[in-house]
Amino acid sequence: MATNGVNGSAINGDHEGEFNHGIQVIDENKEFTSTMPEYLTANNVLQAGFSYHLISVFGSQSTGKSTLLNHLFNTSFPVMSESRRQQTTKGIWMSLATDPDGSSDPDKPHLGKNILVMDVEGTDGRERGEDQDFERKSALFALATSEVLIVNIWEHQVGLYQGANMGLLKTVFEVNLQLFQKDKSTVHRSLLFFVIRDHIGHTPLENLKNTLLADLNNIWHGLSKPPGLESSSISDFFDFTFTTLPHKLLQPDQFKLETQRLKLRFREESPTNANYSTDGVLDTSKTGVFLPAYHRRIPADGLPHYAGNIWRMITENKDLDLPTQQELLAQYRCDEISVVCVELFDEVITPFESALSQKIVQPGLGPAMKTALDTALSKFKEEAGRYHKVVYNRKLEDLEKKLQSRLKVLYVAQLTAAHKNAIAVFADTIQKGIKRSGADFASLVTETRATVLADFTAEAEACSLEGAFSYTDELHAVEKELDEGATRLRGEEMTRLLARMEKSLRTKFTSEDDGVAYMFKTISPTLYPRIWTLFTTGVTDQIAIFTQRSTALNATSDENSQAVYKLKKRAWKVLRTILDEETKEQGLITRLMGYFDKDFRYDDQGVPRVWKAGEDIEGTFAKSKETVLKLIPDLATFQLEDGSKPPLAAFIGDAPEGVEEVGVNIEEEEEEDVASPTSTKTFIILTPGRITSLTESFNRQADQAFVDAKRGTISSVSQ
Ligand code: GDP
Ligand code: MG
Repeated sequence: MATNGVNGSAINGDHEGEFNHGIQVIDENKEFTSTMPEYLTANNVLQAGFSYHLISVFGSQSTGKSTLLNHLFNTSFPVMSESRRQQTTKGIWMSLATDPDGSSDPDKPHLGKNILVMDVEGTDGRERGEDQDFERKSALFALATSEVLIVNIWEHQVGLYQGANMGLLKTVFEVNLQLFQKDKSTVHRSLLFFVIRDHIGHTPLENLKNTLLADLNNIWHGLSKPPGLESSSISDFFDFTFTTLPHKLLQPDQFKLETQRLKLRFREESPTNANYSTDGVLDTSKTGVFLPAYHRRIPADGLPHYAGNIWRMITENKDLDLPTQQELLAQYRCDEISVVCVELFDEVITPFESALSQKIVQPGLGPAMKTALDTALSKFKEEAGRYHKVVYNRKLEDLEKKLQSRLKVLYVAQLTAAHKNAIAVFADTIQKGIKRSGADFASLVTETRATVLADFTAEAEACSLEGAFSYTDELHAVEKELDEGATRLRGEEMTRLLARMEKSLRTKFTSEDDGVAYMFKTISPTLYPRIWTLFTTGVTDQIAIFTQRSTALNATSDENSQAVYKLKKRAWKVLRTILDEETKEQGLITRLMGYFDKDFRYDDQGVPRVWKAGEDIEGTFAKSKETVLKLIPDLATFQLEDGSKPPLAAFIGDAPEGVEEVGVNIEEEEEEDVASPTSTKTFIILTPGRITSLTESFNRQADQAFVDAKRGTISSVSQ
C-alpha cells in the first residue's frame, strides 16, 4: 500500500517535524501563513529566482486529489482514511515535490526543479456548504499564482454539465478574466490539466476530451465578458491537456504505473515553442507541462509577500489585477533588497564617513568607494532585476543616486584634503630645497609641481568612480594656487637676493681700499665724479650678478626688471647714506683741518713749522685758509666735472608697471627723503645753512691755529 499517508514517511528536506506535510498556506480560518519564507528557505527555494514552478490541484472533495499529488510528487499531503470518509484537506496546503528516482539515473527524465504543489480544499461544499465563496477565493488565489491547474475529475462526472466541477471551471474562467484584464497587452496563459480518474476504458480518452472541451466552450460562451474581451476565445488564455488514470483501489499496480508515467510530464526541459493542436489542446506527453508562458514571473524570494498580498486582496474582496500586484510586489521587494544593499555599502563606507571630521586624505578611499558601490549595485541588480522592470529601473536609479550622493560627500572632502596637501607639500619641498643647496629654483619648482600634481591627480582619479565625478575644476584650482605659491616663493627668494645684493654694494661702497671714505681723502672737483663712477660700475656689476641669479629663479622679465629697478634705487640710498655719513660736520672739519694744517703747520718737506719772528704768519695763514675754503663748494653738490647733475634718473630708469602684482616688494618712497633718488634735493649734500656752519667751524679752528702759531713766536722771542 502507498506510504504517503498522514503517517507516511516521505518528508521534505530536513524539517521532518515542522514541515512534514508542507505548510498550510491558507488555514481553515482563512489566515495566510507566516512560515512560507522559512519553508522556502529550508528547501533552498527562496533564492531560486524564477527557477521554480507552482502548480495547484482542483476538484471535488474526496476524489483522490491528495492521493494523486503524493504519488506524482512524493509529497505527504494528508489523505482520507478509507474507513472514515471525512474531509482531510483544509484550506490550501503547499509542499515541495521531491523525486526519489530522479537522482539515481541522470539520463532518465526527472521532475522539474523546485516544483511547489498546492493542494486545495475540495469543492463539493458537502462539508463547507455554508461557505461557498471559499471556492471562488481559492480559485482566484491558485490562478493568480500557479502555472498549471490540475483538474481532478471522475470519469463518470464527465458530461455532467451541471456538475460541481463545471461550476468550479466557470469560476476559474471568470476570475481569470478579472485578473488579467488590466493588462491586455500581455497574455498570461495557464494550463488546465484534466486528470480523469477511475477510467474504466470503455470510453476512449479522445471522446472524453471532446466532451469536456465542448462543455468548456459552452461555459466560456455563457460568460459575460468585460469590455474589450467580448470576442476573446478560451484558448487565448488557457491551454488544455487531458489524461486518464485507472482506479487506484481496483487496479493498484496499473495506477502506480500510470502515475509514474504521468510524472514525467512534470519534467524540467520544455520547448519554448509548443505545438498546439487547433483546438488549443497541448500534448504534454511531448512538450512537458512547464511552458515558459505559464510562469507568473514572481521571483521566489518575492513569492511569500506576493501570495500573501493576493490573498489579502481576495479576502478583502478588493479588485485584484495581477499587473498592479506585480508592481506593488516589485516596490516592496526592491525596497527590501535596497536596504540590504545599503547595509553592505555601509560596512565599507561608514568608517570613512566617520573619519571625515579629520579632514585628511583618507588612504584607500578610492578603491573602497568603487568596491562598495559595485557590491551594492550588483547585488541589487542581481536580486531586484527579476522584478517588474519599470519599478526596478526606478528603484535602481534611486539607490544609485542615494549611494552616489554619499560618495560625493567623501569625494569632495578627499579632493579638498588632497588639494591642501598638494599646496603644503609643494611649499615645504621648495623651502627645504632652497635651504639645502641653494638649488636651481626653477627646476625645483617644475619638478615639485609635477610631483604634487601627479599625486593629486592619482588620488582624485582613484575616487572619481571612473569619471562619474569630475575633478577638472579642483585640479585647475590646485594648479593656479601652485603657480601663485611659486610666484610668492620666488618673490621671497628675489627679496632675499636683493638684500644680499644690497649688502654687497654697501660693502663695496664702504671698502677701505677704494670705497667712498677712501675717495674722501682727496677732496677735489673730481671727488663726486669718481664716486659716481664707483656707484655706476658697482651697481652695473651687481645687476649682472643679480640677473644671472634671478634667471635661475625662473623670474619673468617683468619681475626681473622690477627687481633691478629696486636694486638701483636702493643702491643710491645706500650711497647717499654713506655720503651723509662722510659729510657730517665733525668729520669734514677734521678733513678740512688736515688740508689746512698740511699747508699752514707743515712746510713743503712735511716738516712742522716753527714760526720765527718776522716770518709772514698772516700771509701764509690767509693763503692756507683760502685754499681750504675753496674746497667747500665742491663738496656742497654731487655733480659731475662739467658741473652737471649725474644722470641718476636715466640710470635707474622708469618704474616698471605692475610692481605690486609680482612678489617683489617695493616700499613707498618718501619724496622728502634726500636719500630718495627721486627727491629733488638728493644731489644737495651740504645745504647753505650747513655750508655756513661748516665754514664758521673751520674758521674758528683755523683761527685757533693761527693764534697758537702766533703765541709760539712770542714765547720763543721772550725766552
Ligand atoms: P481528496 O479529498 O480529493 O484529497 O481525496 P483523498 O486523496 O483524501 O482520497 C479520498 C479517498 O479516495 C481515500 O479514501 C482514498 O483512498 C480514495 N482514493 C484515492 N485514489 C482513488 C482513486 O483513484 N479511485 C478511488 N475510487 N478512490 C481513490
Ligand atoms: Mg485532499
